[in-house]
Amino acid sequence: MTEAKQKILRCPICKTVVPLDEPNAPFCSDRCRIIDLGKWASGEYRISSPILDPGVLEDIDEATLRRAQQENDADER
Ligand SMILES: [Zn+2]
Repeated sequence: MTEAKQKILRCPICKTVVPLDEPNAPFCSDRCRIIDLGKWASGEYRISSPILDPGVLEDIDEATLRRAQQENDADER
């Protein structure tokens, strides 16, 4: 038996094997990279960083919040 240890990556989004020379690694394509970014933006992933400073939250007005939520809604369609 030959055990050729090949290093491969799998795209976290679609599980496709990603060549190590893939510029978008660890994603198989730009598309999957953007999907991953979208998940972060929509809060699907929990970010383990401390909660935002309340002072920062006060600087975000309602219009900005609504626009961000609408962008997330559009993303899920
Ligand atoms: Zn992919």
